[in-house]
Amino acid sequence: MNNEDLFKKVVSHCKEYGFVFPSSEIYDGLSAVYDYGQNGVELRNNIRQYWWKAMTQLQSNILGLDAAIFMHPKTWKASGHIDGFSDPMIDNKDSKKRYRADVLLEEHQEKLSAKAHKEVEKARARFGDSFDEAMYRTTNTRVVEYLNAIAHIDNTLKEGLETGNLGMIKALIEELGIVCPVSGTKNWTDVRQFNLMYSTNMSAVESGEENLYLRPETAQGIFVNFINVQKSGRTKIPFGIAQTGKVFRNEIVARQFIMRMKEFEQMELQFFCKPGSELEWYAYWKEQRLKWHLALGTEKNSYRYHDHVKLAHYANAAVDIEFNFPFGFKEVEGIHSRTDFDLSKHEEFSGKKLRYFDPETNESYIPYVVETSIGLDRMFLLTLCAAYQEEAVDGGEVRTVLKLHPALAPVKAAILPLVKKDGLPEMAEKIYNDLRFDFKLYIEDKDSIGKRYRRMDAIGTPFCITIDHDSIANEDVTIRYRDTMEQRRVKVSELRDILFKETGMSALLQKLACI
Ligand code: ATP
Repeated sequence: MNNEDLFKKVVSHCKEYGFVFPSSEIYDGLSAVYDYGQNGVELRNNIRQYWWKAMTQLQSNILGLDAAIFMHPKTWKASGHIDGFSDPMIDNKDSKKRYRADVLLEEHQEKLSAKAHKEVEKARARFGDSFDEAMYRTTNTRVVEYLNAIAHIDNTLKEGLETGNLGMIKALIEELGIVCPVSGTKNWTDVRQFNLMYSTNMSAVESGEENLYLRPETAQGIFVNFINVQKSGRTKIPFGIAQTGKVFRNEIVARQFIMRMKEFEQMELQFFCKPGSELEWYAYWKEQRLKWHLALGTEKNSYRYHDHVKLAHYANAAVDIEFNFPFGFKEVEGIHSRTDFDLSKHEEFSGKKLRYFDPETNESYIPYVVETSIGLDRMFLLTLCAAYQEEAVDGGEVRTVLKLHPALAPVKAAILPLVKKDGLPEMAEKIYNDLRFDFKLYIEDKDSIGKRYRRMDAIGTPFCITIDHDSIANEDVTIRYRDTMEQRRVKVSELRDILFKETGMSALLQKLACI
């Protein structure tokens, strides 16, 4: 299966099996907004729970928080979002489509880079072992031209954005002859900055004063509560505050399903430390966060770090954890060493001291912050892309199976009486009623057992528990393993322990603590 096919299949699987639906679909949907169905909500809750417990339960110095989505408007002035949280956009007058000017330019760069790569590969084939790639890249006229054009785009875009000279960016789009993918024309509007925050107002009467924003990140709720949590929790530095919650961004280029949404959820940690120790903590969290991903059993090669070369003005180190999605390596999580930028700004704008008094040194200072920020929905997509498999089984049939980590699986076990008579459904019901207090289960007596197994494979249920005629006399059942399809006879009294051991969150957390 090629990557494009895989992605299409994951998207349609999500709809067919109740993981993700387009929002308000009966009204033709809403662009880049999605709803989670019966299986999606369970999977998403489990991913969130894994993150939450890894942060606030495994780490004694991390405390949780749930701040409101609405915040005082000054928050966003202080954080820089009112002035700087924007994307440069451009419209095509013929197709009426809106694009991010920087994305149009980046796509053009990708084309140039592919052309340069093609030239290099042709030369490699021609020269064989004696090929010196570095030399070729600096001497071959065509390759040099492509690489210079890429650098020219980088420099012009950077200068245009930094100086606010958006005319330069439009001129560059025209100079490169970039056309609208829909109309095919170069009939562009000027480039304008477009703030990504959604605004609303608090009072019934609209007035500038009351203008509110839907938060575009959860981090600011943590910064404004830093003193509240530190004092009420009597915590000493270093310590962290963890939060998950909905955020809203008016993304201009929303695409790739739930990869880029207008309403999504973040899981963020702000870790407060002593100035000067931040790079050590940054290295710690960089490693720790990758471990969190790998404990789920995803292949190591599917992940990579992407260190930022160009840093935001407030950061002194930044890295993305990228995953190899079917459309290439893309960011799933960002780790940033944010210095004391945010707390200093909030101190300045609020006039309230946001300092920590260190009883050991008798010093008072604004802590430095290391942030880890992951999108829950992007992690959801990653989890499905990594889990989706089609396998040939006996009889030339193909089964679709989601090889989800059992702790994340929406349903832990299906209870399946072989037939709808002879007391088997009653015994199934009894097992279900006994185990439902501890596990999310599914009980079904319709259709052949083979069909029922396939449906459970498709939603990633790790165990199917089948009750047959021998079960009644022997108090035992057959337990089928999703990944191997192996079947084992076990006593009914063993089921609880097996499910706890194999599907419980604690086994996953223990694994995380050991790697
Ligand atoms: P990108 O470069 O992809 O726009 P970003 O650098 O703006 O992401 P952050 O502001 O660092 O992202 O947000 C942290 C995480 O939130 C990202 O790593 C990603 O997983 C997730 N995220 C960001 N924007 C979106 C979105 N529009 N839809 C879904 N998830 C998102």
